[in-house]
Amino acid sequence: MNSQHRNGTVYIVGAGPGDPGLMTVKGLEKLKEADVVVYDRLVNDDLLAYCKEGCERVFVGKESGYHPIEQEQITEILMRKSRLGLTVVRLKGGNPFVFGRGSEEAVALKDAGIDFEIIPGITSGLSAPIYSGIPITHRGLITQCVLITAHESPDKQGTQVEWDKLAQLKHATLIIYMGASRIESICNELVKHGMDPTTPSAVVENGTLPKQRTITGRLDCIAHEFKTMDFHAPAIIMISPTVAMRDQLSWFENRPLFGKRIVMSGSKKELEKLREMVYDLGGEVLPLPYSDSTLLPDRLDGNGNHSEEDLFGEKDSVSNGFQYDESYDHGFPLMSARRAFATVSGGTEDDLVEDIRNKRADAFIFATSSAVEHFFYIFGYEAAANLLEHGKSITVGHTAADTLINKNVRNISVRTANSTEELHDLIINLFPVA
Ligand code: SAH
Repeated sequence: MNSQHRNGTVYIVGAGPGDPGLMTVKGLEKLKEADVVVYDRLVNDDLLAYCKEGCERVFVGKESGYHPIEQEQITEILMRKSRLGLTVVRLKGGNPFVFGRGSEEAVALKDAGIDFEIIPGITSGLSAPIYSGIPITHRGLITQCVLITAHESPDKQGTQVEWDKLAQLKHATLIIYMGASRIESICNELVKHGMDPTTPSAVVENGTLPKQRTITGRLDCIAHEFKTMDFHAPAIIMISPTVAMRDQLSWFENRPLFGKRIVMSGSKKELEKLREMVYDLGGEVLPLPYSDSTLLPDRLDGNGNHSEEDLFGEKDSVSNGFQYDESYDHGFPLMSARRAFATVSGGTEDDLVEDIRNKRADAFIFATSSAVEHFFYIFGYEAAANLLEHGKSITVGHTAADTLINKNVRNISVRTANSTEELHDLIINLFPVA
């Protein structure tokens, strides 16, 4: 290597299966240090929030049957960036070395003389079932476990998976990746080769994420159930006697807000805490943050300026138990507030807004009255009112509640919380267990 110039190291890092908390500490450290992050579709976007300022993020997502960026191009990007002396993180879903092509990328780097390190991740096949309450092994039941891919290189003739031999295994757990589009033929194949058709089977879709879904059933019925329930990739198929233990061990899907879509509107800072709370209770968090420096048009006077009170935050956000750091807003220049608003409002609606429009939400949490204004601003009055009519609304503090009531929307079920504890209880009580 040229002594004048050092290539940067490429860290091939496993992002885990979806839940951002399932990334390794070492992986996260490298992610925080990275100058460039090259990431896939199955990587949870929330992890990118840990990237340092100025970090370049390159999305190279691949979808089944549609590969906008070829594998060679990905490797090429890694090489080019590291030759500039940059620290590169190649962030891949699950474990990069389990059906992840991480080893192909490592070989290419090796051939190019580029230093690399590999930080394994938690693979989806060994974690999604666990979030469904299904153990991989259990003493007395399972002595062997096989990880299988149902999606082989298209250039292969036939299948290399020995379904006939797998069908004969006893005391075994079969874990099948990339099997969503072939579940029917997989199950048929196993039954045809002698596997007991009553073997307990499961499919976990979007495992470890708040939108996780699980179905269980006999081996000869699970494909039908899959179709009926309209399951899709990413999904793990598991065939094992341990599937029966889900009745006892289900935990992730039992949390109070599991399956609920909770929209929250507030400044980035206010949402941090809310987000954590809802996430811990199992809800799907749909955050609508606005820049802390953003002011809404109706809060600006005719000259485009705003009152001092607006700038220094709302009264209710000081007294409601949320940490309010005055120094945060103090001395904030007027002009940049306007520019920040232009940035936020300038773009078209993002995917999240579209998603909320289409699928609605079960509850709405408003951190302040500005958060209410923000919500009505981005959806438009009619759509916002319509959304709120179909869900329950919580405001933090009375000012926000008043703003909501002043909007004259019918059927809003507003509840007000004045402390974090109260908010916590309110959220849980919105959805009492049947
Ligand atoms: N390297 C990855 C696997 C990549 S192959 C890992 O270690 O997990 C892609 C397949 O992984 C998907 O087709 C699906 O079978 C599985 N998968 C990835 N994330 C998943 C998730 N959150 N839930 C269920 N299956 C998932």
